[in-house]
Amino acid sequence: MPEISARPEIEALKPYAPGRSIAEIQDHYGLSQVIKMASNENPLGASPLVREAIGRHAALAFRYPQGGNPRLIKALAAFHRVDANRLVVGNGSDEIIDLLIRILAVPGRDSLACFEPCFSIYPIQGRISGVEVRRCPLEKDFSFNFDALLGLVDASTRLVFVTTPDNPSGWCPARGAVRDLARRLARLAPHCLLVVDEAYMDFAENEADHSLLAARELPDNTAFLRTFSKSFGLAGLRLGYGVLPPALAACYWRARLPFSVNILAEEAGLAALADTAFREATLAAVRNGRAVLQAGLTALGCTVWPSAANFLLFRLPAGAGPAEGCFEALLRRGIIIRPLKSYNLPDHLRVSVGEEHENAAFLAAMRDILHGEKA
Ligand code: PMP
Repeated sequence: MPEISARPEIEALKPYAPGRSIAEIQDHYGLSQVIKMASNENPLGASPLVREAIGRHAALAFRYPQGGNPRLIKALAAFHRVDANRLVVGNGSDEIIDLLIRILAVPGRDSLACFEPCFSIYPIQGRISGVEVRRCPLEKDFSFNFDALLGLVDASTRLVFVTTPDNPSGWCPARGAVRDLARRLARLAPHCLLVVDEAYMDFAENEADHSLLAARELPDNTAFLRTFSKSFGLAGLRLGYGVLPPALAACYWRARLPFSVNILAEEAGLAALADTAFREATLAAVRNGRAVLQAGLTALGCTVWPSAANFLLFRLPAGAGPAEGCFEALLRRGIIIRPLKSYNLPDHLRVSVGEEHENAAFLAAMRDILHGEKA
C-alpha cells in the first residue's frame, strides 16, 4: 500500500451530517410511505413551470452551460433590483460559502468567526481550508450577542458569518441590528467581510424589516447569500446565489470552477424566478404551517422557539425522555425530522414545515409518542 495520507485538517474533520433520506428510512423500517421534514425543503415540491423547463431543456444536457450564467445573473439582478456586477451564482450557496473562505483567508494565518451553534458548513469549510475557526455561544434564547461576536475579531479575521433567520433556531434580528453590526465591523476590521446568510429570509413575515438586501442597503463590507433550495424548491439541483461587493464578485468569478452551475439548474432557476404564483403559494403554506406546528407542539407541552424560517426548533416536555428517542419513534412511524446532536444541541429537535397533511401527521405522531393517544 502506498502511504497516502491526508492533510491533518482532513483527518481531524467531523463531516457535515445531512438529514436522513426517504429511501434510507423506507429500506431500514420496511415502510412504503415516509414523510421527510428534516432538511428545510419546499413543502410544495418543485414548481410546475420548473418541471416543464427541465423537460424542455433535457436535450441540452450534452452542452456545457454558458460561461458566467449571464441570463440567470440578469434575472437575479432584476429580482433584487441590484447591479448585475454584484451577483454570483454557485452549486448551492454551500459553494459560495466555501469559495468566499478560500478567496479571502490565507491558510494557517487567518481566521473566521461565527456563532456556536450555527450552520455547520461555515466551520467545516473553514477547517478544510486551514483557517482558524473562532466561535462564541448564542444567548440562552438563541438570540445573537453581536458584542461577543465582534470580540472574536482581530487583524487575522477575514470573515464573520451570521445566519438570519438562523439555522437551527429560526431567530431573526431586526434590520437595524445587522446594519449596526456591519458598521462596527468595518471600523474594527476594515479587511473583514460580513457574510449575512439569508437562506431563509423570504419566509419572514416582512422581509424588509429584517433584511438589508430586501431594503437594498448594501454595506461595502457585506455579502448576502440566498438559495434556490428553499422557497424556490430546487434543493436537488444545487443552485445558490450571492449579492457581493462588486470587487469581491469579480474575484469570485475568477476563482469559481467554470461550470459549477449546470445547464438544467440554470434553466430551472430562470423558471422558478418566473413562477411567482408557486412561490407565493410556498410562502403562504410555510407561514400557515409554521403557525400550526408552533401551536400544536406548544399544546403538547413542548418548548418551541419563535421562528422566521421554514422550520421550528423545539424541546420535549420535562419527563418525556431523550430527544433522540422521540426522533427514532417518529422514524418508526415513517416521519423524518432532524436531531441536533451535530449542532451540539442533543436535547433539541428541528422540524421543517411540511404540507398540511404532513404537519397533521407529524403532530398526531407526536401526540401518540408523548401522550399515547392515537389520532
Ligand atoms: N445556509 C444555510 C443557513 C442553510 O441552512 C443552508 C441549507 N441547509 C445553506 C446555506 C445551503 O443551501 P444550498 O442548498 O443553497 O447549498
